[in-house]
Amino acid sequence: MKNLKSYISEVNNFPKEGIVFKDINPIYGEPKIWKQIMEPLRNLIITLKPDYLAGIESRGFISASALAFKNDIGFIPIRKANKLPGKVLSINYKLEYGEDRLEIQEDHIKNDSKIIVIDDLLATGGTAEAAGNLLKKAGANLIGYGFLVELTALKGRKRLDNELVIESVVKY
Ligand code: AMP
Repeated sequence: MKNLKSYISEVNNFPKEGIVFKDINPIYGEPKIWKQIMEPLRNLIITLKPDYLAGIESRGFISASALAFKNDIGFIPIRKANKLPGKVLSINYKLEYGEDRLEIQEDHIKNDSKIIVIDDLLATGGTAEAAGNLLKKAGANLIGYGFLVELTALKGRKRLDNELVIESVVKY
């Protein structure tokens, strides 16, 4: 088992001053390592049997769509504001500075369908919390969260519904 952290680089002050950005792109270039980091999320899918995986734009799309395709599950893109056509449901959420908005297409979610939210990284939890609330607003049955990386010091999982399964593969 290779040390996954050796494939995650740290970039200081990106995208803004004071942030240590975890760059997981080197993992995607190494199929065996990518498989290794995806395996626990695959197990989560096998256990929870979701109808859909919902990926958060944009880095969440990479692993969510790959896992959905590989496991014959539907994929739902959760997008940033004003990217989706047709009827959309939206939710505003607070960032460190200012606000942002996530959206989904209203008609794509069947009532009570079981959904796991997937993102590359859990930091403060604001994004994942908003994504989960948005899916619930759409009538979905949110059953869990999966992340490749978790920054545990930021206590993001405390903001998420603690009755749900929350899986993160690499913890800092
Ligand atoms: P948060 O809402 O604080 O949990 O932030 C999570 C979102 O921001 C994820 O979609 C990540 O892609 C991104 N993000 C936040 N902090 C970092 C970081 N230190 N390195 C890489 N991505 C980050």
